[in-house]
Amino acid sequence: MGWLGLDDTDGLSGGCTTHTFHKLISLLAKDTNAIGEDWKWRVSTNPRLVRLWPFAERRTRGNAAVACEIILFGEEDDVIDEGRIDESETALLKRLDELWAELVLADAERHGSASESHHDQRQQSEASPGMVWLKQDIDNKIYTMAVRGEVKLTEIMEFVDDKINASGGKVWKDNDGHGCIGALAAISWNGLIDHTWEAIAYRLEKNIGTLRFINNQKVIQLTTKYPDTFVNRDPTIDRSLISPRTPCPVLFGIRAETRDAAESAAHWLLKDRNSENASSMRVWQTNQATNDHLFHRYKGDLVEKPQIIKGGHAIIELENGLKAIAFSQSGDINRVIQMLLSGDEVEFYGIIPKGENIVHLERFIFKAPSPKRHLRPLCDCGSRFTSKGKGQQLKCPNCKEKTFDHWVESPLPAQLAPLLGVWLEPPASARRHLAAPLSRLHPDLP
Ligand SMILES: [Zn+2]
Repeated sequence: MGWLGLDDTDGLSGGCTTHTFHKLISLLAKDTNAIGEDWKWRVSTNPRLVRLWPFAERRTRGNAAVACEIILFGEEDDVIDEGRIDESETALLKRLDELWAELVLADAERHGSASESHHDQRQQSEASPGMVWLKQDIDNKIYTMAVRGEVKLTEIMEFVDDKINASGGKVWKDNDGHGCIGALAAISWNGLIDHTWEAIAYRLEKNIGTLRFINNQKVIQLTTKYPDTFVNRDPTIDRSLISPRTPCPVLFGIRAETRDAAESAAHWLLKDRNSENASSMRVWQTNQATNDHLFHRYKGDLVEKPQIIKGGHAIIELENGLKAIAFSQSGDINRVIQMLLSGDEVEFYGIIPKGENIVHLERFIFKAPSPKRHLRPLCDCGSRFTSKGKGQQLKCPNCKEKTFDHWVESPLPAQLAPLLGVWLEPPASARRHLAAPLSRLHPDLP
């Protein structure tokens, strides 16, 4: 057996690496649909869709890469016949040469031209497709690197060359082949610790680029009808989250805890007469909603009151100098931070973009109020005692009553008190593909 990985075939102007790969493995599977005497290979029905480091320099919308296991003819026989396996691999590579030229490069050329997107301010680079075939399993080191930070193409190519020299494989690349990074990372991911599923329905060719028609009533029913699906909607803004808003070929994607839930829910939605027809559907095993990109829990006390900058974004600084930002879109996280004071104790998860020294918050908890959140006591007359200086008794400005020098605890603001000790996350529409909803993973886990 071996692994085929692909990435970087799309641009912001359209296309989608999952769609190109879906077509590719569909054709490969069709080649040997009838498994009999002359079957050549078997394509796994659990291809992988892997999201990588959200701040990678070269990335399109969701920074997704794909991979699929392919079992060669003869590999599952009781008596291994190397000759048969080699024959099968030779045929597979020949077929992949054709598909690379006719399908992958054609898609990359069609969609992957550099363009300034209407959806995104970033200047988009041209598609740089890379496809990798490795005739062995590799461990998840490359994946871990690629989901938690920037990986260099040269590093990846050295690794791939070593593996190919050791046990066989092949690389296809165009325009520098940066896609080899994602292709290898997707092969390297094994999803053993955690994984989820997504059923993606693709649009009919003639509809791509037009408005999508999905029956919103059905989307509302999805979560109750299929409780193992998740992030179908953002209830805070009453919006469906299953369809992208870009001109890509995806009609919708339904994320779920189990393969069966994703697949059943997608079939159910596709049967609806008030929704657009799809050309096809594919279920992917994914690293979405696993928090694999988060690996450090930060803790500390605020060194000063949070700073609110233009746009309503809030910045906090810990005593050790570490800063973190809660964008205005981050909902409760931003709201709570705006009410914090110097000395308040917090913990959080987030990631730091390359070249910055500020954590972009993804999970946040207000652990304990500052000991400095205190007041002078109230006098029996209703006024509050005031200090008359160090070593002096406190004095009531109203009735002149005196008391010893002391503090009482100040109650938290009514809006803040219920959120003390509660893990918070941005609303569903503002979360990354990789971010695990709090309802999915225990908040104390990254
Ligand atoms: Zn008084």
